[in-house]
Amino acid sequence: MEIDFYTFEPEKQDPNPQFFQRSMILYNTRQPSQKSTFQHAVFQGLADGNGLFMPEQLPVMTADFFQHLPHLSFSEMAEEVVSALIGDEIPEDVIKDICQDAFSFPVPLTQLGTQTYCLELFHGPSLAFKDFGARFMSRVMSYFNRIDQKPLHVLVATSGDTGGAVAMGFHNVPGIRVTILYPKGRVSKFQEVQLTCLGGNVRALEVDGSFDDCQALVKQAFQDRELSQKEGLTSANSINIARLIPQSLYYFYAWGQIQNMIPGANVLFSVPSGNFGNVCAGAFAMKMGLPVEMFIAAVNANRVFTDYLKDGIFTPKPSVATLANAMDVGNPSNFERIEALFGGWSGVKDTFRSYSFSDEETEAAEMKMFNLFGNLSEPHAAIGFLGLDSYRNETGSDAVGVFLGTAHPAKFIPVLPESLRSKVEIPVSLLELEKMPSVKQSMQVDFEEFRQIILEN
Ligand SMILES: *Cc1c(COP(=O)(O)O)cnc(C)c1O
Repeated sequence: MEIDFYTFEPEKQDPNPQFFQRSMILYNTRQPSQKSTFQHAVFQGLADGNGLFMPEQLPVMTADFFQHLPHLSFSEMAEEVVSALIGDEIPEDVIKDICQDAFSFPVPLTQLGTQTYCLELFHGPSLAFKDFGARFMSRVMSYFNRIDQKPLHVLVATSGDTGGAVAMGFHNVPGIRVTILYPKGRVSKFQEVQLTCLGGNVRALEVDGSFDDCQALVKQAFQDRELSQKEGLTSANSINIARLIPQSLYYFYAWGQIQNMIPGANVLFSVPSGNFGNVCAGAFAMKMGLPVEMFIAAVNANRVFTDYLKDGIFTPKPSVATLANAMDVGNPSNFERIEALFGGWSGVKDTFRSYSFSDEETEAAEMKMFNLFGNLSEPHAAIGFLGLDSYRNETGSDAVGVFLGTAHPAKFIPVLPESLRSKVEIPVSLLELEKMPSVKQSMQVDFEEFRQIILEN
């Protein structure tokens, strides 16, 4: 990426121990000798040569922290973990404000029978767990940009969930403009509402093409030197380290809440996975000392990780379409981070199990969750629920199982079993948003047209 103040400048980026007493140092997974500060990694997103930024060290939380954890609120817990990770590259009082502001919605655990809980991560503004990452990242960028005050312009291509979280995460954040490209006719009604009805600093571009076309336009914009320099373009891509860090927080929180209910319980997590950011963030929490029996990466028919655990051979494949479409990923981008974290296959296979489920199994699980436990779910969470079943059958584990509820069922009504569709209650926030005027700009798959739109602002 050729953006002047984000470009890698080793002499500036060498973390300076005189300046920061305690700071996060990141390395590039493809060029481990290349180091970066947190700020640099946040703005660059992807490291040089398509590498990923990885923390060189993860701090281990103290015994005292774990003892207090069950009694901490989400934002109190978040402040401690984020401060330990990022150090003083962001002052403690700012971290406190960022956490209080970003994680201002409830994170309930709902019980489904004995020993099984759903950690509901879908009560934020976009109704999916991606709110944690997007809201945190937007506030961090805004803080780092406070001195330069360059107008930052975030460009995102979305096929659905990411766009909503980013749009809502950056909505009304000072100094930042957001442009979201989405493929015409290929996002759900409520997903479109989340992109087009916010207004303010968020602009929706409806592209007469596919998601891949949208993504190609965004990539081309970053390669256009004049454009990226003049407009301060940056990306909110899901591989950004600032989106991953906040996703490790809710594992700590869930563990603490379980200890409140069942002191001394062993805990395992089942994570519906696509790009493997969520489960990778869980592994960060474990490396920071969180006692976790096992992580289950629960997947749909896109099972390259499941197969990798068997024989250590990672073979990316084209993705196949399933009901859980936010997990239709044939080449999970965070796989590289997971391997780096555990130093290869043998470490990975001690920490993760993975099970793959068909659409039929997913629908049957949604029916079971509703009929037995009164829990109205959606395909992604249902796959997480199934992962716990498979693991228990295989191992006989009696640990408390927590599966992640990654999205609100209202976002996936058209793909629910017919008998469940009318039962979903649409959250008031979504109904309110839907009443606002919908504003979008339509465009062809044409880079010149896109360029003009950005330059005219
Ligand atoms: C993005 C998403 C996932 C997959 O998360 P990864 O971090 O990519 O593994 C699962 N469920 C829902 C609803 C999502 O939006």
